[in-house]
Amino acid sequence: MKDIEKERLMIRAAAEKTARRIVQPRAAKIDAAGEFPWDLVEALGKQGYLSLLLPESYGGTDGDLTSFCIVVEEIAKVCGSSSLLILSQGLGTLPILLGGNPSQKDIYFTEISGKNRLTALALREPEGGLEASSIKTIAMKQGKDYLVNGRKGFITHGSLAKFYSVFAVTQPEHGAEGISAFVVEDGTPGLLFGNKVEKVGMRGSITADVIFEDCRISQENRLGDEGEGWKIARDTINMSRPVIGAQAVGIAQGALDFAVRYANERIQFGKPISSFQAIQFMISDMATRIEAARALVYKAASQIDGKLKDTEELSAISKYFASETAMKVTTDAVQILGGYGYMKEYPVERMMRDAKVTQIYEETSQIQRWVVAQQLLKH
Ligand SMILES: Cc1cc2nc3c(=O)[nH]c(=O)nc-3n(C[C@H](O)[C@H](O)[C@H](O)COP(=O)(O)OP(=O)(O)OC[C@H]3O[C@@H](n4cnc5c(N)ncnc54)[C@H](O)[C@@H]3O)c2cc1C
Repeated sequence: MKDIEKERLMIRAAAEKTARRIVQPRAAKIDAAGEFPWDLVEALGKQGYLSLLLPESYGGTDGDLTSFCIVVEEIAKVCGSSSLLILSQGLGTLPILLGGNPSQKDIYFTEISGKNRLTALALREPEGGLEASSIKTIAMKQGKDYLVNGRKGFITHGSLAKFYSVFAVTQPEHGAEGISAFVVEDGTPGLLFGNKVEKVGMRGSITADVIFEDCRISQENRLGDEGEGWKIARDTINMSRPVIGAQAVGIAQGALDFAVRYANERIQFGKPISSFQAIQFMISDMATRIEAARALVYKAASQIDGKLKDTEELSAISKYFASETAMKVTTDAVQILGGYGYMKEYPVERMMRDAKVTQIYEETSQIQRWVVAQQLLKH
């Protein structure tokens, strides 16, 4: 076995142990309280999970997306919110990894890895849309500074993060080439936050608007050259899709595992419900979908790790299929538990609520299908 494969097996085993020992006991409470688990920031930081994508010199895997997917999948099996903590940390870090210069990387990565500082990806705006014209946040050049004004909506870790990777228009007349990327640090005057929004699922993850009101930042905070922001944003999203796919696979697997245990224990008509073919076929279908989704996710991640060209199609397919799988499988898990599935006493209803957002964030399933069609039709 190759060294990298051995290493990834070790990463999976360690993540599985962390999930079982540290995260699982907190999962139901995090969801019920709807509070951000700062204790887990500490614990997951200790495992290196908050700096997973960073270079090895900062304790990371040097951007190994496959390892990142493995950790997210294992944690998602027991707690969607905690997997989102790790995932969002990676997303906030990616623009720095993709566009930062050595000195910026040193400053931010030292804090992220050494002090467990949280990061956030502040891309989407309240008006939404996936085209560059949807970015209305403006960064006006003033000498060696930029004055930022605008609003980013539904940002994971909004108000909690130390570093925000922000995308803003610097040259309005240049369209997509007029967008630049910046890191804005918490505490910068003019960086404000909306209220935490109440969500159906992922309730232990904080989502809030990030607002810029005459927020002055130095040009030292710009990632890459002026006009490179949209490329950094699209590359970030392309890399993030398989990771959300991995999260979806983990949630689905957690629900299937629970449903199988339950089906073996629940007696109806004098036998375990697992002896009924109707239940067996549901379980088989759930497992089939999960295995197919997992194969797609790791194929997409390995294409990106291998720096292959044209990875968008598979990246979008993997997120689309895995998130649809998570929704279907978790709904079926609730069905297998019958009335108990609908009760808060069991984790499958939480998994179903957590699964839903995987079809929505980092662009919806409809948009993934659009991306796939665009890629296919351009050839
Ligand atoms: C819990 C949560 C956390 C989030 N975290 C972050 C974050 O950290 N950073 C960040 O930047 N964003 C974040 N987001 C935002 C998220 O990425 C967007 O909500 C998502 O991409 C969908 O955009 P929208 O909400 O504007 O929906 P819209 O784009 O308004 O979509 C509404 C509906 O229209 C459909 N639709 C839209 N355009 C098309 C089209 N061209 N063709 C067909 N159908 C279409 C959609 O599929 C959907 O069904 C988060 C969202 C949530 C819910």
